[in-house]
Amino acid sequence: MNKYYITTAIDYTNDVIHIGHAYQKILADVLARYHRQLGDKTFFLTGTDEHGTTSEQAAKKAGKEPKEFVDEISAKDKEQIDSLNISYDRFIRTTDPDHKELVREFYLKVKSNGDIYKGTYKGLYCVGCESYKTEGEIVDGKCPLHPTRELQSIEEENYFFTWSKYENFLRNHIEENPNFIKPEARKNEMLAFLDQGLRDIAISRQRDKVSWGIPIPNDPKHVFYVWFDALLNYISGAPDFWPASVHILGKDNVRWHALLWPAMLKSAGYPLPKTIYGHGFATIDGQKISKSLGNIIRPTELVKEFGVDGTRHYFLRYGPLTEDTDIKLSTIKDTYNSDLANNLGNLVSRVAKIAESSNFEFPPAKVNIQNPQFAPYHKTLEEFRLNDSVSFVWEKISEANKFIDENRPWEQEGESLKQTLEHLVVKINEIASLLKPFLPKTAEKIEKQFKGPKISFTEPLFPRI
Ligand SMILES: [Zn+2]
Repeated sequence: MNKYYITTAIDYTNDVIHIGHAYQKILADVLARYHRQLGDKTFFLTGTDEHGTTSEQAAKKAGKEPKEFVDEISAKDKEQIDSLNISYDRFIRTTDPDHKELVREFYLKVKSNGDIYKGTYKGLYCVGCESYKTEGEIVDGKCPLHPTRELQSIEEENYFFTWSKYENFLRNHIEENPNFIKPEARKNEMLAFLDQGLRDIAISRQRDKVSWGIPIPNDPKHVFYVWFDALLNYISGAPDFWPASVHILGKDNVRWHALLWPAMLKSAGYPLPKTIYGHGFATIDGQKISKSLGNIIRPTELVKEFGVDGTRHYFLRYGPLTEDTDIKLSTIKDTYNSDLANNLGNLVSRVAKIAESSNFEFPPAKVNIQNPQFAPYHKTLEEFRLNDSVSFVWEKISEANKFIDENRPWEQEGESLKQTLEHLVVKINEIASLLKPFLPKTAEKIEKQFKGPKISFTEPLFPRI
């Protein structure tokens, strides 16, 4: 049995997640469901990243203790994720005791390998990124990713990780493993970053500056800097499943996952993840999604309007898979009506109505998803081209609709009607199987309705809106 371990990024608990984060969870969910369907031993991890300055400051602003505050945000994030029918096996929190224990153990392994030293850091720090910024990364005195935040000037004693020692190891690994960083553009960015040379990286903050963190073993005046804590969730979340088959994350986090994380793993003696996939960003109606612009939409709001599968479908077909993508709220509605209500919904209703009035009995549905005709579906899923896999299913839906229009079953009767309907029932069952990872609830409804022997019309799957 193959093992398949997939993770999403874990989200900061300074605020509840919005639809920009939701896309990533849907993407990972499809892959997890697909691999379960293939019979792989699958584990799907998501969760929240709870330590560090951003959460500490947000808690203070809300007049709460950090733990109380992150408990609330984490619970709300979970609610958002659940609204999208995300089939995670564990929702990890970096405040979980087993995670904190692993961070300490891991650090001691890296330290015993001679890769930790104490030094003084002097430079600018972006709280939004939770990372130090080099000269070259600053534009007009600001972090380009967080132009509304002031950079902090910091000089303090930190523990450092000998990142620079792993430069050649990383370059060789990336070049020898073409599937390690996906898509290709991200890989080229990482190689270009390596060409500038790596500098050792601070992995702790002083506790009098940042108190909300995991204390460094044997030196409680320091706490772990967020990445050295957060990245380790991928092991602590499912130690028996490590190494991960794929980490799914936003393109802004690729550097930490593709360069820092493998160096840490190598140092501590762990195997590396197989693939790191960095997807694009979503904008809404041409604007970045941000609190200050007031255009934040939560997944639950979309689900209320378009249903869980209506929301999933839009992102899967048109989401920011490799490139940044603009979400237009009006297109979600159009997509719902054309793809779901008209194409899929109509197909299912038309066939169910004719099958019902025909009173025929249909043999039990048996779908072989490994049939060679579905090869492009599997290939696109394995290559993370999920929008192409969705398009493949929609081609099958269109073909079935075309078959109805051409064969006009409403004008047929007897044996010829039976044959036409049997063909359509097989096609609809195939479509339901293919849809399972993408629109699980819809697939389930269709399978229930079309499993035979009697088929009856129930209610439209997607009422027009
Ligand atoms: Zn920043």
